[in-house]
Amino acid sequence: MQNLWNDNDVAHCKTDLDLRVYSSNLLGQSDELVLHGGGNTSVKSTLNGEEILYVKGSGWDLVSIKAEGFSPVKMSALLEMAKLENLSDSNMVSGQKEAMIDSSAPTPSVEAILHALIPFKVVDHTHADAVVTISNSLHGAEYITELYPNFLIVPYIMPGFVLAHKIYEMTRDLDWDGCEGIILLNHGIFTFDNDAKKSYDKMIDAVSIAEKFLNENAPISFDEIEPTGFDVGKLKQVIQEAKGHSVVMKINQTQLALKYASNPNLEEFATRGVLTPEHIIRTKHQPLIIDDNNLDEVLIEYIEGYQEYFEAFSSNEIMLNPIPNYVVIQDFGVVVFGKNEKETNIINDIVEHTMLAVIRADKLGGYESISMADSFAMEYWELEQAKLK
Ligand SMILES: [Zn+2]
Repeated sequence: MQNLWNDNDVAHCKTDLDLRVYSSNLLGQSDELVLHGGGNTSVKSTLNGEEILYVKGSGWDLVSIKAEGFSPVKMSALLEMAKLENLSDSNMVSGQKEAMIDSSAPTPSVEAILHALIPFKVVDHTHADAVVTISNSLHGAEYITELYPNFLIVPYIMPGFVLAHKIYEMTRDLDWDGCEGIILLNHGIFTFDNDAKKSYDKMIDAVSIAEKFLNENAPISFDEIEPTGFDVGKLKQVIQEAKGHSVVMKINQTQLALKYASNPNLEEFATRGVLTPEHIIRTKHQPLIIDDNNLDEVLIEYIEGYQEYFEAFSSNEIMLNPIPNYVVIQDFGVVVFGKNEKETNIINDIVEHTMLAVIRADKLGGYESISMADSFAMEYWELEQAKLK
């Protein structure tokens, strides 16, 4: 994993926040670390005697975030919230907003409390492909524990307050000086330091360990696969009608997509869930699989399956559109549908990274993502539902 730090580029950085912007942009430049809005970063600083956490605001991408993309939140308020036994995510978000010292700043990341709990100036959080690929494999937790002996390893917990409170409990007696980072299984990785460069270096070094492990234990090669034909015009029309709005379609026939789509057991192989939880908002838990040509039939089955999933886990949520956002077609490739070009490209990028992870995790014994219940909790998160209601 390439370290992009350049001392000449930081010469202009005068404040903690300047440097925070610089290293956040660096993390964002590596799409094997974060994709579109993924990950978050923070820096602790003092303003008029008060300790402030500048944390990534929602709606910003690390690659392009600027100083105004960071929300300044009072550390004392975040640390108080961490101690609460119960707090809904909506109340956590409003509590964080009340603790902002500039009301025009963006809404702080839902991981702000977690950042506050880490007693180092600079905190970096990514969804590094290599780390989540290993974590999402059959013996992922064991491999991760072996590879990262000095990291705090946290079993999967839904992001938001429950995760923050869990970290509060797990770290009350922790010797932080002996802790090199945190790995959230099936989710991502945190590194931290009082020095921005060191925190960034630790991220690159930690992810390089995972990459080396994958290169040794799950090497990947591509044969030249020729795609078969498929009537994508008809597919687009059917998806569009089912969704009830126009879509932008993207056909992915890279060698990766062809290798993925040529798996003889597609129905099981390509439906095993997301790489990191937040992807579910874009991709849903699984794609539509077409392994013969009966499109109408498989689409009806997909919708029925989605309704069953919704009914199994819902209490009073509003059901989202049950139509797939991407389709894996046997020996043809992958077709992605978004409401506009931007969304289509985002979904396609996420699917690309997921396909590689699935193929590699299979070489480690099998790909295993979060459970259906956890997928539902993420897809129907109260913060997402609030936007609909
Ligand atoms: Zn995350």
